[in-house]
Amino acid sequence: MLMSAFNGTQNLVLDRRKFLGVAAGLIAAGVLPKNVLALAGPYAFKQGAYDVTVVSDGTLLLPLSLVGQGGKPEDVKALLGAMAQGDNAQFEASPLLLKSGSDVVLMDTGSGGNFQPTAGKIAESLKATGTDASAITKVIFTHAHPDHCWGTLGADGKSVFPNASFHTAETEWNFWTASDLASKMPKEMEGMVKGTQGQLAGIKDKVTMFKPGTEILPGINVLDTAGHTPGHVSFEMAGGDGLIITADAIMNPLVYFPHPDWKFGFDADHATAIANRKKLLDMASAGKKKLIGFHWPYPGIGMAEAKDGAYVYVPAA
Ligand SMILES: [Zn+2]
Repeated sequence: MLMSAFNGTQNLVLDRRKFLGVAAGLIAAGVLPKNVLALAGPYAFKQGAYDVTVVSDGTLLLPLSLVGQGGKPEDVKALLGAMAQGDNAQFEASPLLLKSGSDVVLMDTGSGGNFQPTAGKIAESLKATGTDASAITKVIFTHAHPDHCWGTLGADGKSVFPNASFHTAETEWNFWTASDLASKMPKEMEGMVKGTQGQLAGIKDKVTMFKPGTEILPGINVLDTAGHTPGHVSFEMAGGDGLIITADAIMNPLVYFPHPDWKFGFDADHATAIANRKKLLDMASAGKKKLIGFHWPYPGIGMAEAKDGAYVYVPAA
């Protein structure tokens, strides 16, 4: 019965309730990855004036050695629990779809077809929300790493979102588009630099720059969370006590809430990344704001409670 539910998105949508019930049990048992829920029936909620849907681009396998640097490997593995698989761990990749009035906004475009085979699934997830890529009016980037922007151009080199304008922090754009960047980075980063530069070149005529401290859309403010990349940004959405879209400033809540001082191997500037991670956790715990994270266990929404100089993750969905 379950296999038949995998045969097409149509079935998944029609049988959503039944599917979610069965899938939830298999996910709890570790048989299915959590993002199967996202592909079948993306999680949606209201935040201020926006209808927010947590879409899924699939999952990414990363070496455990990159996560929780500073802690003992066995402690990191224990914190990640079922997410750990041998020397690796599987992380979600969850862009956000925001709708308000005539705005249909996608926050990050995912990995596209050239990063990891388990990722680049955003089209399927958008379809499950009833949203065609051509309906997206604005794409806003948190930063320009492959898993956040390589889904921008299709295999034909054209924008997957033909009717969208693109919005990126000025610092991030200037960092990645510098013509001498590849020569300044380690050799093994060359592929990433070239890949990102290709994606950004394809949208250069449709891009608008923004700065931290500004309101990018009504009720959505830009927060400076540099460190992961030089121009990495997070966002705070109005509504209730607020929602902080952390992106990769807090890569995983199970590891970095209890140990905000541990490093993440993909952070470009560890000291700045750690300071900004703590800033977000402080803001959230003091202001009782919700947090959402791009790579957190789906749908990745929770609260931070301050405890003994660190934080406890309290999932809110
Ligand atoms: Zn990422």
